[in-house]
Amino acid sequence: MKFVRSFIESFGSDIYIDLGTANTLVMDRRKGLVANEPSVVVYRHGTDGRRKVVAVGDAAKRKMGRTSGSLTTCLPLKDGVVAEIDATEAMLKYFLASAKSIRWPRPRLVISLPYGVSDVEKRAVQDCGISAGAREVVLIEEPMAAALGSGLPIESSRGCMVIDIGGGTTEVAVISLYGIVHCEAVRVGGYAFDEAIVEHIRRRHNLIIGQPSAEKLKIKLGTALPGDYETSATVRGVDYVPGLPREITVTSHEIYEALSGGIRQIVDAGKRTLENTPPELLSDIIEHGIVIAGGGALLHGMAECLSSHLGVPVRIADNPLTAIARGGACTIQDSKLLSRIILS
Ligand code: ADP
Ligand code: MG
Repeated sequence: MKFVRSFIESFGSDIYIDLGTANTLVMDRRKGLVANEPSVVVYRHGTDGRRKVVAVGDAAKRKMGRTSGSLTTCLPLKDGVVAEIDATEAMLKYFLASAKSIRWPRPRLVISLPYGVSDVEKRAVQDCGISAGAREVVLIEEPMAAALGSGLPIESSRGCMVIDIGGGTTEVAVISLYGIVHCEAVRVGGYAFDEAIVEHIRRRHNLIIGQPSAEKLKIKLGTALPGDYETSATVRGVDYVPGLPREITVTSHEIYEALSGGIRQIVDAGKRTLENTPPELLSDIIEHGIVIAGGGALLHGMAECLSSHLGVPVRIADNPLTAIARGGACTIQDSKLLSRIILS
């Protein structure tokens, strides 16, 4: 019976999910990238007190900041771990359906989690995966996926350093011989940058803008380097005092000022990691440089800023927004690799 089961399962599909605070990406062993959508769920609250999922992913993100009455937006993940169990389960169900894998046998999921999460947090994501229809959920550490997806030789004795700047957190890791030698995580990422912009515009201009507008300003004007990138854009919001709509012009320098505190925290995490790296591995990192991945790696000047403060060359991974998913996909293509890095 056991043989029959493992025979059937060998035909089953393995799926890797990069369950990010901002975006979820799904990789199928055979089909490659099958979904890449924001990690957002919208609920409608019924008069009977129950709530029903009305949108997930892209459709849900389009409603963000625009819902009212019986609709609410929910971010299922916070700082890379499950914050809302029901919403995470609903989101995984949606993404597994979009993977359109053969429903039988049920797929095995590989999911990556931030370094150093608790057993309770691991169980939460595994339970959500099983309820969403997986037959098994195995876990790997996100910095491993980031390093693999950035083309770093994690199997080698050479020390590699990767910085994943995501939506909720930034993880800085040094990896060697399939293991994480040191990792520093800070609760600074794309969302913290957006919030800093909202706060800056409120204080400087007495204007209230939403997170989606702040994110647009960050992508258009944001920079990690002071004074190198002079451009501006307009943004519309609601005046703090009369409560009427108003439009203002914002410069890239202002956005730099708003982001600089968060960028400083990322630089400091990089410094602490280098200080805690054994000398032999440190010399490898100085020679081969650091790779940055995740959406935050796309912030203008981020690589130059890190490089100048850390004194080590820094390069951006190819397609930093999909690098972690590509790294995770390596583990569903190579069972030996998965067995080396799987979390017990
Ligand atoms: P997560 O893995 O936590 O879901 P991602 O790696 O997908 O996060 O990155 C998402 C974050 O990257 C978002 O906060 C988004 O605003 C930010 N981002 C995307 N493109 C850019 C860009 N060009 N400049 C700055 N930030 C960006
Ligand atoms: Mg991520």
